[in-house]
Amino acid sequence: MAAIGTVGVIGAGTMGNGIAQACAVAGIDVVMVDVGDAQLERGRSAIAGSLERLVKKEKLSAGDRDAALARVRTATDYAALARAGLVVEAATENPSVKFDILRKVDALVGDDAILATNTSSISITQLGAVLKRADRFVGLHFFNPVPMMALVEVIRGLATSEATVDAAGAFARALGKTPIVVRNSPGFVVNRILCPMLNEAIFLYGEGVASAQEIDDGMKLGCNHPIGPLALTDMIGLDVLLAVMQVFHADFGDDKYRPAPLLKEMVAAGWLGRKSGRGFYTYAK
Ligand code: NAD
Repeated sequence: MAAIGTVGVIGAGTMGNGIAQACAVAGIDVVMVDVGDAQLERGRSAIAGSLERLVKKEKLSAGDRDAALARVRTATDYAALARAGLVVEAATENPSVKFDILRKVDALVGDDAILATNTSSISITQLGAVLKRADRFVGLHFFNPVPMMALVEVIRGLATSEATVDAAGAFARALGKTPIVVRNSPGFVVNRILCPMLNEAIFLYGEGVASAQEIDDGMKLGCNHPIGPLALTDMIGLDVLLAVMQVFHADFGDDKYRPAPLLKEMVAAGWLGRKSGRGFYTYAK
């Protein structure tokens, strides 16, 4: 990892601060960039809080916590990324935001630097097509919460070079994660399997085949899943699942990906799961 040096992370939200924390704990200097000081402050305190919990659980020493925090710099100016060997874009899931960020970073960083995106749904090939370094552009899809989740999907766009895929995999391993290499395709591997399963659980529930609790117990006890599909959908957000299914349906043009009617109706009602206080279950605000 010595070749990569400082890592830039764009976006200090849920995923960005998690990726920055994983770098810092692994001994890698990181600079986190967001649009404003308030977002950076929130990101930094999320990292501090998460590290503190690790100290309380005796998974991290107080000295290592302080050293990790000291490795995280923050900036609102993209110029802070100029010397990064790897920049991971983890900003809002909006194609025009991402195109804009990637073009800016492409023009700013050194010729050898690698650009990566944490996008969940946008084509790596399409994002890479606007860059002068499409061969050094790759998907690095982390899972939430980043410090806890062992998997990173390394996504190869059509123009991504073998050396870039290798470097991205080495980076994931340096963070203590296990990479799997995936060709660019909607949902990559994990969401392609997971989201249709969650959607199917909503079909079952909408058809009155079983109660929410019974469906969740079925998958927990029958398949050893740690959480049932409806409870997991409440955690992810029903709006997020609907958006993913709509992308699958449109991109594959296959009706097997059509969103469950009840999913669409619940989203229309504003029943988005935990974040709105109501989904398949109700939650105290
Ligand atoms: P988030 O809303 O928590 O954070 C996004 C951050 O990006 C915000 O702080 C926002 O201010 C910042 N941002 C927006 N425009 C910017 C710009 N021009 N420059 C710098 N920063 C900018 O979102 P998130 O959940 O962290 O998701 C980030 C990315 O990770 C998305 O592409 C998402 O699809 C992907 N992802 C999310 C999850 C998840 O479970 N949340 C899992 C895997 C991948």
